[in-house]
Amino acid sequence: MAAPGHYSPEQIYAAVRRRTPSISLATIYNNLRLFVEHGLLREVSPHPSTLLVEGNLEPHHHLVCMRCKAVQDIEGDFINYKKLSQQAPRGFDLSQSLVEVFGLCRRCSAEK
Ligand SMILES: [Zn+2]
Ligand SMILES: [Zn+2]
Repeated sequence: MAAPGHYSPEQIYAAVRRRTPSISLATIYNNLRLFVEHGLLREVSPHPSTLLVEGNLEPHHHLVCMRCKAVQDIEGDFINYKKLSQQAPRGFDLSQSLVEVFGLCRRCSAEK
C-alpha cells in the first residue's frame, strides 16, 4: 500500500500471490473496495471498468459522481498549459488534458 503509483487489482494480485499463493483475485477486489470505502485508498478514477466512450469530441472536462459514477461534461479552460509544461517531466509531449472533478450528482446528493 505504501508503494507510490497506480495499481490494478490484477497487479496487486500478482505481487501478493508470490508471498501468499492461496489468495484469490476476488479477495483482493473485496479488500481494495473496503480500503477505498474507508478512505485508506483512493480510486485513480472511479469509472466502471467497462469501455466508456465519449461522444463529445470538443475539449472538455468531467464531473464524476462518486456514488452512481455518472459522468457529466463541463466546458471550460481549467488548465494552465504553460505552467503544466514547466511541471511535466522533460520530454513529455503534452497533447490533451482532462480534469475529473469528483462529487455527488444532483440526484445522489438529494438522496443523502
Ligand atoms: Zn450520482
Ligand atoms: Zn465527456
